[in-house]
Amino acid sequence: MTEPPSPPAATLWPDKKSLVRQLLEVSRLLEVLGAEPYRAAAYAGAARRLEAYEGDLTPLLEAGRLTEVRGVGPGVAAAVEALRGRGAPQLPLLEALYAEVPEGVLGLLRVAGLGPKKVRALWQAGIADLDALLAAAGDGRLAKVRGFGAKSAAAVTAAARFALEARERERLDEAEVRAARFEALCKTLAPEATLERAGELRRALETVGALSFVVTGLPVTVLAERLASLGATPSEGGELHLSFEGRPLELWCADAEALGAALACRTGSEAFVAALAAHAAAKGLRLTPAGLLRGETLLPTPTEAALWTQLGLPMVPPERREGGLVGDEALVTLTDIRGLVHNHTTWSDGACSLDEMVAAARALGYRYLALADHSRTSYYANGLSVERVFEQARAVARLREALDRDGADFKVLHGLEVDILPDGSLDYPDEVLAKLDYTVISVHQHFTLDKVKQTERLVRAVQHPYASILGHLTGRLLLRRPPYEVDVMAVLAACAEAGTVVEINANPRRLDLDWRLVARAKALGCRFAIDPDAHHVDGYHDLRYGVLMARKAGLSAIDVVNTAPDAGAFLARLKPSRAPVGG
Ligand SMILES: [Zn+2]
Ligand SMILES: [Zn+2]
Repeated sequence: MTEPPSPPAATLWPDKKSLVRQLLEVSRLLEVLGAEPYRAAAYAGAARRLEAYEGDLTPLLEAGRLTEVRGVGPGVAAAVEALRGRGAPQLPLLEALYAEVPEGVLGLLRVAGLGPKKVRALWQAGIADLDALLAAAGDGRLAKVRGFGAKSAAAVTAAARFALEARERERLDEAEVRAARFEALCKTLAPEATLERAGELRRALETVGALSFVVTGLPVTVLAERLASLGATPSEGGELHLSFEGRPLELWCADAEALGAALACRTGSEAFVAALAAHAAAKGLRLTPAGLLRGETLLPTPTEAALWTQLGLPMVPPERREGGLVGDEALVTLTDIRGLVHNHTTWSDGACSLDEMVAAARALGYRYLALADHSRTSYYANGLSVERVFEQARAVARLREALDRDGADFKVLHGLEVDILPDGSLDYPDEVLAKLDYTVISVHQHFTLDKVKQTERLVRAVQHPYASILGHLTGRLLLRRPPYEVDVMAVLAACAEAGTVVEINANPRRLDLDWRLVARAKALGCRFAIDPDAHHVDGYHDLRYGVLMARKAGLSAIDVVNTAPDAGAFLARLKPSRAPVGG
């Protein structure tokens, strides 16, 4: 199919959120570069005014009348006006500033707690990237830089380690997309080669370092030639290390007859492969990346299944290979999930209407959709006032009636994502909560309480009789924001005791609660909901990530409340605090 010729670039105005973010970034970069303070302040001020501006900015942008917003001066307006006629919504000024600041210094700006002033001070002191920052923290130089003391140096070190990891790893969903691009490229450059994903990506770790593939069909020297443009140089063990889109990537060449053994060894984890090799040794076999051997004889393992058969073991799914060997398990699967829980609509900050969310859920074959729009304290996410809660309840009731009239085997449950307030109380009075089918309770603000207070806050919240599911427990955003300080085990124990379900938030940016803690929570007697936290119908597909994390933690369908076959059975699995609803 040929694409029609693309029309000349029309002006692409950024939406309000993006414009505000860009202006704030301009302000920060100006400060780092040591511009006149009033210039940085003008951009920051304009950003705040535009953020608070009620209404659509596009007409003002199109008419070139941005200065009509109070607090937006002609300088800022001109920087925005420079977007006119450009096909990309990125401010040319921002691009110019990025070009002036070294990559390493930009990396410092991503460290939590390092504002532009501190970054400038570091840069002036010759500390111009994360590695230099950690070195300076190690030998005491950091504490002597203007604006830093021993205490802040310690906090910055922890934050810098986090940022360093963020630089070297990427989220699972990003790694998947990059892997697919590499596979497509290889189809062109080396069509005879067959690639199998290995390493952390195959194990579905929530963040991935180097992408790793086992390759059959081409000798390593030929493969290296084909991929020379990517800087591929072969090393002794039949492996290639190269750089793809600026990130490291490993290729392991294997013989087709030994693919199964190579794949198992290159999938890892190290602990798992060691346990597998020990099992092989006990049977008088030797497991190596070059193949499974009895003495000098290669036992054919053209697939991984063949390897597992040779070893006399049931196959352990790759995502479950983080520790030692595990026995045959009935792990939860994506098709076990029958209901979509924790979903946003245009009633708060979702992008799709209630009707669209229902239609898409039905089309995917789910049996129930449990809503969870934001509560009133999340005003920035258009959280619902008490009046709008009741209004939404009426809309849901009408929709249920319409579904029943159609004979649809599908239920909509009315719930909300209720903010946990700083003292651990919930964001609506009990009379309002009592009207809901269920709740997801979540922390969205006040992340910086001390550990004791944060723990007390969450423990009190999960003990609330109307708290059904504890949403994204630690608040982490993978590689962007570390979990807040909280005694997770104390909160989990309180959940187990109160019967409050623990969420595995399936959004690949969160995957919160961490699967390692999910395994510990299960041992405490907790039950779980695997929730898409969808803000768009496409978000339903994130469930796959949540299920992978649940499998890493060793959960079965019975551990997960939204494997219940219908809405009534789902509600019956939540703690009994209200009359049954939903019909
Ligand atoms: Zn939330
Ligand atoms: Zn949410």
